[in-house]
Amino acid sequence: MTNQAWLISTAIQQAVQQLTNSANDCNPKLEAEILLCHSLRVNRAYLLTWPEKALTETQVAEFFALVERRQAGEPIAYLLGYKEFWGLALQVSPATLIPRADTETLIEIALQKLAQYPKPQILDMGTGSGAIALALASERPDAKITAIDASPAALAVAQANGLAHQLKINWLLSDWFSQLEGQKFDCIVSNPPYIEQQDLHLTQGDLRFEPDSALSSGSDGLDDLRLIICQAPSYLNQQAWLFVEHGYNQADAVKQLFRQAGFQSITCQVDLAGHPRVSYGQTP
Ligand code: GLN
Repeated sequence: MTNQAWLISTAIQQAVQQLTNSANDCNPKLEAEILLCHSLRVNRAYLLTWPEKALTETQVAEFFALVERRQAGEPIAYLLGYKEFWGLALQVSPATLIPRADTETLIEIALQKLAQYPKPQILDMGTGSGAIALALASERPDAKITAIDASPAALAVAQANGLAHQLKINWLLSDWFSQLEGQKFDCIVSNPPYIEQQDLHLTQGDLRFEPDSALSSGSDGLDDLRLIICQAPSYLNQQAWLFVEHGYNQADAVKQLFRQAGFQSITCQVDLAGHPRVSYGQTP
């Protein structure tokens, strides 16, 4: 393939064909263009302007290597090495979940509720790439934010994202609350693993490549949510908030957990697709 003189237009055509024939659920044209932009370090306008431009051998090799990995199912975000979340380009790796647009729902509500709290102390649990902590930090420079994760590899990615965006977070290696003894917060946010261990979605699409520790949580998917909601009150000030993301079918169970833990003003918010996705409540 590298001996042939590839043009921008013919390389895209070839990639579209390869991606169309793969078993992936994807948009071949868009993905071919995104991967070629990445290999050439240009934007999409450049591809449209210069379809006749010849690629170098290095560019061809890099591009078709990415196309082949995509054919095998690797998520676009891992191939590019980053994903956009709340307007921030965040580095991601196979050690982190790929931030989802659904999680922006959590950011929106948390920001609304925190508007009345000057210099809020915030805790992000299971921060992964740092998405939630960094989005909140970008909007609330006055906040003091701690973000924990049990995975050193994920925490290293989060830390790099903090540096890249010059957002200050207290990054902490901790298995849920284990390293937080005695600390109190005005708000705890979390997008924990919440998929049922037997869920077939885990064997499909991007999820196949993401860390299982970030995705699944026991037979009903609620193991980590149970732990977080049950223990959160000990780490929250009075009239402080807990926000958690959960599965579309877990709203009732999560509401029950909030009740049992003594939370008030318990509410569930739907995501962009209209699914119940984020539940929150306030300590007395
Ligand atoms: N908090 C991170 C995110 O929302 C990671 C969540 C996770 O790994 N379950 O993207």
